[in-house]
Amino acid sequence: MVARDEEVLSAKLKKFRAASFRLEGLELSIGKVTKPPAEEEFAEPMGPTPKPGIEDLRDWDMILLKRYPPMYAPICDVCCLCTYGKCDLTGNKKGACGIDMKTQQGRWSLLTAFTGMNTHLSHAKELVEKLIEMKGPDVPIDMGEKTPVEAPIIRVVTGIAPKKLSDLLEVIDYVESQVPPLVASIHMGQEGSYLDYESKAYHAGMLDSVSMEVADIAQICALDLPRGDPNAPLVEIGAGVLDQSKPVILVIGHNVLPAISIADYMREHDLEDKIEIGGICCTAHDLTRYTQSAKIVGPQSMQIKYVRSGFADVVIVDEQCIRVDMHEIARSVNAPFIATNIKAMHGLPDRTHDDPDEIVKDLVSGKETGVLILDEEKVGEVAVRVALEVAPKRQKFKITPSKEEVIAYAKTCWHCGACTKTCPNSLPISDAMYAAAEGDLSKLAALEESCVGCGRCEQECKRKIPVLSLIAKAAEKKFREQKAKARVGRGPISDYEIRIIAEQWGLGTIPGCIAIIGCCNYPNEQREVYEMAKEFLMRNFIVAASGCGAMSIGLYTDEEGKTLYERFPGAFVARGLCNVGSCVSNPHITDAGIRVANVFARRILSGNFKEIADYLLNYVGACGLVWGAYSQKAFSIGMSCHRLGVPAVLGPHSAKYRHLYLGLKENLESYNVRDIKDGSVHNLGPVPEHLIYVAESMEEAMVMCCKLCFRNNDLPEGRQLKITNYIDIYKKYYGRMPDDLHYYIRDEFDIPYAAKDEIMELLKAAGWEPKKPIKSPTLLDPKEIWTYEAMRQGKKWYTV
Ligand code: SF4
Ligand code: SF4
Ligand code: SF4
Repeated sequence: MVARDEEVLSAKLKKFRAASFRLEGLELSIGKVTKPPAEEEFAEPMGPTPKPGIEDLRDWDMILLKRYPPMYAPICDVCCLCTYGKCDLTGNKKGACGIDMKTQQGRWSLLTAFTGMNTHLSHAKELVEKLIEMKGPDVPIDMGEKTPVEAPIIRVVTGIAPKKLSDLLEVIDYVESQVPPLVASIHMGQEGSYLDYESKAYHAGMLDSVSMEVADIAQICALDLPRGDPNAPLVEIGAGVLDQSKPVILVIGHNVLPAISIADYMREHDLEDKIEIGGICCTAHDLTRYTQSAKIVGPQSMQIKYVRSGFADVVIVDEQCIRVDMHEIARSVNAPFIATNIKAMHGLPDRTHDDPDEIVKDLVSGKETGVLILDEEKVGEVAVRVALEVAPKRQKFKITPSKEEVIAYAKTCWHCGACTKTCPNSLPISDAMYAAAEGDLSKLAALEESCVGCGRCEQECKRKIPVLSLIAKAAEKKFREQKAKARVGRGPISDYEIRIIAEQWGLGTIPGCIAIIGCCNYPNEQREVYEMAKEFLMRNFIVAASGCGAMSIGLYTDEEGKTLYERFPGAFVARGLCNVGSCVSNPHITDAGIRVANVFARRILSGNFKEIADYLLNYVGACGLVWGAYSQKAFSIGMSCHRLGVPAVLGPHSAKYRHLYLGLKENLESYNVRDIKDGSVHNLGPVPEHLIYVAESMEEAMVMCCKLCFRNNDLPEGRQLKITNYIDIYKKYYGRMPDDLHYYIRDEFDIPYAAKDEIMELLKAAGWEPKKPIKSPTLLDPKEIWTYEAMRQGKKWYTV
């Protein structure tokens, strides 16, 4: 535990005599001195909801939920949560506690979002506390001179403007204070409304974004990671980037501290040229932000394939999205395994307090195949020493079969199809086995692009065929040759960049920002992510990326051998491709929208969540594209975006979250907005149409992303440009004009000149009536727009 900066004031007075009175033995002690409110620390007035509780933003949630009602697709229709059950919730039946299916699904939303949020909260708290131990509490929160609002989401939610590392503890305290009521409401016999469960799930999502921002700000400032640098360095990415002639250390997970300790030990001992260190998943992102001598192997789906290939001499896991059987997989290739985090201890002996010499000896001799070390510094030393000693002995021992063995296995295949049936992508494994049995491995190799590395096929195969290993062997050449470049995570989008593009983006003349984020549970080839990023870049969108999505974009090259990171600038501009970093870097993307509200519209940020979310929903054209989301964290990240008014398109596997927020075009009134100036009610069409939409194909996803970037505040030139884009992409992928233009064309100034006659015909056929655009749309009661209320009160403040 770290001592908090509690500013304790205590005084003792032995004796005091005055003319008229006498004091003896007075002891005065004041515990925590509450800091003056942020209003006095910087010139911005405090908004109405600093550090909101569950109930404080509920009215905003209900506005959203009325417009975008949750649509549930239950996977499980019984409840076994308490011993009253199990209860059948099919049809109109209720459980023994009175809960119905809809409310039960709302409870699942909260449970999922809550699990994701807590994962980031725990990660953030651990990072902040350990970084304070390592670097001290006074590390300044400095996100670069061009980024004076260092922590937009923290400021919007809590009203806190952190100035030093230890200030983040107060933010964590707030998030933790929200945990008990959220988790308590999951208990049986509590919440009776699915809408209130959804509101709580939003709350958990919002807290998740605060936790993520805390984590990334802490590591940026304490470890000196790039601070909004559009020219952040390029780093090698791909399964073939690690030099196999050297000992290889593989780090997997999300919490970068153990990996950093390894890199430090290598540097301090002049071993950077003698050992390779590479990462899978977000630890790879964050490690390469710290040192470019490290490399990115690839996204989470590479875990089994890479370790079985024998390339890694030591495997280190930290936390989140790691294969929980990774110790077993590493053991199968004689690679020592080190777990480093209390959340994932894998039943291993705790060697945290042992002499490193002893641990190294045990791992190298094979006396221990895996150990738990909860001391980052020790992990650094042990991992490096073990890699050096074990690599010559292992000689890259692997369990992927030889070509002859693949053929022999393929000949034993019954072609029962059980593997395909269980495969999330229904891959045609049996067909590939037919070809492989004849010596042609090309069909097996072709499966690799769409294989998410889950290993379910192997579990199902009665012939005990190691299908995934066969695929990995067939794709071995591709793995060896896969070498590309990705820009390392740049961290925040600077206020300076926002100043340059705020007007174009806010008014719609940049068609939108597409955030390609999330995990790698892709429905088809991983290459689709690259193709979608390319399409949006060519169409003048801003593309921001993080996590596995950012890696998938970087794995492919054009005819000249260049990746999109090499072809497009890393700045937050139209046609810019910004890799912000790992999962916990995600808030930098929504922060960009918040910065527009601040820089362009001079909206108050501090404690002013509803107004800022309302602004993003009505003014800032942005859409998340979460093509491979699978984790609870991805769900809670999604909820954080939606409460802030940012819609998202998800890939088909995300339907298993059993939860969408679809708008109802047939109920146009639900899209009504008010004019801030006079409170008058207007209907400007279904914009944005949905908050969560699941697309079945990448073509549908791209079309929907374009549409979900429409905003009520679009200027005529902006909407015209967005409509042009929408028509063009729709025609490209569906071969015809969209049939819903009458919803989005407000008046004739929105109509693209080039297709005016054709569009007018369509509008006439649809019975279109022009609508008058308004300049200041809101979903709130205009009296709740705190910025104007503060102006009315005569308050003055500065934006950045
Ligand atoms: S929580 Fe309710 S629905 Fe679930 S098992 Fe218990 S009584 Fe049945
Ligand atoms: S489950 Fe096994 S035997 Fe059946 S088709 Fe797949 S690989 Fe062949
Ligand atoms: S490991 Fe690959 S081929 Fe096997 S079930 Fe999973 S996705 Fe399908």
